[in-house]
Amino acid sequence: MDKLPVGVFTSVDAGLGVKFDVVRELGVKTIQLHAPKRESRTHEMAMNFLYKLKENDIKLTTVFLGFEGESYATIAEAAETVGLVPPKTRAARLIEAFEISDFAKLLGAASIGSHIGFVPHDRRSQEYASVVETVRSLCKYFKKKSQSLNLETGQESVESLLMFIDDVACDNLFVNFDPANLILYGIGNPLEALRKVGRRVRGVHCKDAVKTTGTPGVDWGREVPFGQGEVDAENFIKTLYQIGYQGALTIEREIPQEPERQRKEIGETVRLIEDIKTRVAKQLVT
Ligand code: MG
Repeated sequence: MDKLPVGVFTSVDAGLGVKFDVVRELGVKTIQLHAPKRESRTHEMAMNFLYKLKENDIKLTTVFLGFEGESYATIAEAAETVGLVPPKTRAARLIEAFEISDFAKLLGAASIGSHIGFVPHDRRSQEYASVVETVRSLCKYFKKKSQSLNLETGQESVESLLMFIDDVACDNLFVNFDPANLILYGIGNPLEALRKVGRRVRGVHCKDAVKTTGTPGVDWGREVPFGQGEVDAENFIKTLYQIGYQGALTIEREIPQEPERQRKEIGETVRLIEDIKTRVAKQLVT
């Protein structure tokens, strides 16, 4: 497989990705998959999906954790409902994350991606210690299945994220880098952040955004097609080459309510990324 193969974020019945027929139509050869709903995560479903992957020569790189009750309606709501941080749902979601890992193993995915949630800021607090312990137990479980855990960027600065990763101290804990999230949440410059994360990047979302006209960190920025926002798509991909990243470039365009537009814009993004890769590869050898 070539370096930095293009991929697309995919959904079966949960999450904001495209359906498998769109993946096939786009002709991309890698996908990330949002974890299907619990009732769909059967052995039979896994075997059917695996067959479709093989038939179309598509590699599943990552399964993303997703849970009932998560909401991204506002940043405050995301903080209350997303991932493994919210205390009320933490224990039940931890068990579900183990089940998703089992399902991902059937599909041959080598990594699990996760929006872990808003990690508490006070490193000396009991709450912080508890989140560290939760993520550590996830990493241990995944390690037994030869899987890594890739934490999605966005909810905190990369400095905080890297500190958290150091505190968890597991050698299968890495980063899924989403440059648009840094803009959407108003917490930093994506290219500077990418250089800081460096070799810990094990997954990438090609997503773009413009910052909020309201209050950063309170009001959402606005997602736009990759290459049309403030990420600086060309330099983003160039920086990925420079930090030695060799994994997939997974396009994420979170507008499933407009499937035709989603399909069209992802198709345009596939071509844009291929063009950028060709240009950047030439620049880097000359
Ligand atoms: Mg993302």
